[in-house]
Amino acid sequence: MLQLKGKPVAESIYSQIKAKLGAMLNAGMRSPHLAVILVGEDPASKVYVAHKQKACETLGFKSSFIKLSETTSDAELAQKIDELNTNDDIDGILLQLPLPSHLDAKKMSDLILPSKDADSLTATSLGLLMSGRQVVSSCTPAGIIEILKYYKLSVANKNVLVIGRSLIVGLPLFHLLTQENATVTVAHSKTENLKELVKNFDFVFVAVGKPHFLKATDFKKDTVVIDVGIHRVLSGLIGDVDPTGAETHLKALSPVPGGVGPMTIAMLMKNTYSLTEKKHH
Ligand code: NAD
Repeated sequence: MLQLKGKPVAESIYSQIKAKLGAMLNAGMRSPHLAVILVGEDPASKVYVAHKQKACETLGFKSSFIKLSETTSDAELAQKIDELNTNDDIDGILLQLPLPSHLDAKKMSDLILPSKDADSLTATSLGLLMSGRQVVSSCTPAGIIEILKYYKLSVANKNVLVIGRSLIVGLPLFHLLTQENATVTVAHSKTENLKELVKNFDFVFVAVGKPHFLKATDFKKDTVVIDVGIHRVLSGLIGDVDPTGAETHLKALSPVPGGVGPMTIAMLMKNTYSLTEKKHH
């Protein structure tokens, strides 16, 4: 079985960004600048935000970290987003999700200026993706497409299944896979007989958010499985798919950790670069 590790794919993205960044700086432009907003104390979000800042540092991007308290109001968050929207020194804005439950994530995300929307969270960015005119795409789905390309796994003319319909993973992934000429089915929490359904596909993308929701042996033999889930348990990080038996049963599987995870941050850096470049053209 092929292990679809994200690290080499992420490294190749970073090399491409570094090469382009060199040319950008030589042309007298400044480095891309990403602002990351974290509201509240979610422990996983704190780790992700730290990784995002570290990636900026490693590449030579500027980063600003805006930490707001758990009790931040709609109006306070809206004002902060507005300040970043109008600050010409900021090229990309990332609002780390999930937000505390009293804040409406869709409403807040929509306040980000589409030209600075580094994770393609706004309705405008999602609409551009739907019509095939995206400048950047949601980081995790875009990272998954990069993994498929790196490992030369073409989805064109293939029957593929996406499990999950969130605005951040499942639905943008549906559009990106369609753009790659796959025939895509989307399953979700109201889908019945999922265990039967998964057996009909060559590729399955699992973004359910439930630890070991499916077993590697639930898929038909030689399926390519992309496991998007990440869950912290006592033994470490695990995915939505239990990999037991995968070695002899699947064609390929993205490991957790080390599969899709590293790609999300790499694509955030790529998106920030692309938004900066677009601004100068
Ligand atoms: P979400 O909770 O917003 O969406 C989960 C989706 O799964 C929903 O659309 C729901 O309809 C579907 N679902 C729930 N129960 C189901 C069931 N029994 N059968 C079929 N479908 C079902 O989650 P999300 O933001 O899309 O994230 C999904 C997973 O991916 C989470 O574990 C999350 O932590 C992980 N994630 C990882 C990365 C990364 O960088 N690797 C990035 C984003 C999300």
